[in-house]
Amino acid sequence: MILLKRLFLILFLGTFSLNAQNLRVNIFSKHKIETLKVDALNGSYQIHSRNAFIAEFTEGQSLKLNINSSGKIHLTQNGEFLGLFDTLSLFQSSHLDYLSFHPESKNNIKVKSRQYEGDFEITAKGNLLSIVNFIFTESYLEGVLASEAGIRCAKEYYKVQAIISRTFAGNNKEKHKEEGFNLCDAVHCQAYYGRYQGESLDLTSGIKETYGEVLVDSSYNSFPTFFSANCGGQSAETDQIWNRLLPNYMSQEDTFCLHTRQSRWEKYITKKELLNFISNKYFYDISKKKFRDRAFNFNQDLRKTFFIHPSFGIPLRDVRSAFNLRSTFFTCEPVGDKILLRGRGFGHGIGLCQEGAMGMVKLGLNYTDILSFYFRGSMLSNMSTPINHW
Ligand SMILES: [Zn+2]
Ligand SMILES: [Zn+2]
Repeated sequence: MILLKRLFLILFLGTFSLNAQNLRVNIFSKHKIETLKVDALNGSYQIHSRNAFIAEFTEGQSLKLNINSSGKIHLTQNGEFLGLFDTLSLFQSSHLDYLSFHPESKNNIKVKSRQYEGDFEITAKGNLLSIVNFIFTESYLEGVLASEAGIRCAKEYYKVQAIISRTFAGNNKEKHKEEGFNLCDAVHCQAYYGRYQGESLDLTSGIKETYGEVLVDSSYNSFPTFFSANCGGQSAETDQIWNRLLPNYMSQEDTFCLHTRQSRWEKYITKKELLNFISNKYFYDISKKKFRDRAFNFNQDLRKTFFIHPSFGIPLRDVRSAFNLRSTFFTCEPVGDKILLRGRGFGHGIGLCQEGAMGMVKLGLNYTDILSFYFRGSMLSNMSTPINHW
């Protein structure tokens, strides 16, 4: 029986490394997990460590993992000690099985529990636990769509998001290669906060009806599918944000997102804060009135790249990050000893505008219209067709 289980494990791991449909996603990537409780909510799992079978883990049971003083994982199952390990794997018995994770981060800070399906590898890294979820792309996408778009969108919008998120996952499989997984679960890659719990038929259908579809260019090269919440009416070019010009991402007008929830924002900062920023970091002589005036009355009808001066200026992305602004697309207006920043959009503004795409859906446009509007020069292909660079 143990031999059979080992054979099963070898076949299983072999499939993971060879099958491009399987993703390895680092979960709770933003948290420093010291202790983890795991509940089997549905079905059963097998616990292994380095090819050795340890125990069955079935519905209603709990595991507790923490790191001991020598950096090993101390594992108990329903209170019974099972051993000390460097790494543990949890394999589901069927694809319907799922678990609930209850982590605690440093200083006993509780992290919100989440449910996950698929298999897991839990490793001791220093005095922390690293958790990697092995998941099929289409199941991962359900979790991504629920996390990135919520559960109340129209089916046509889910089709759009499914295609760009599926393409993003394919394009970025190497993003965390050095760390031993494909993607993290934070917005650095794509938000993936656990198993989708079936709340929206439209979400499920949006993924199923675009099964395997991805965006490529006319030579079947992978197509980068960046997106942000709201472009503020004009998309940004990639070199305005990342110092790298991608020719398919020329700035364009977007009227579909103009009157939406996140199309406008306002924020006050003090004149003193702004002047300190431009003088301390960029050495502008703020005793000169012309520089103070330029900063206090900075105007941006169309997106600019720099603050104050067109070429010797301060990258607007630096202003955004210094003052924690929703976008780089803003104008300044002096009000007493403060500056009123009036901004447009939310996010970097490159590529697809999520609220614009939702606006297009409301107007009756379909997912192919929406993708070709935001991703000029792209076309749809299928993951089963070879794609360059994947
Ligand atoms: Zn990442
Ligand atoms: Zn937009």
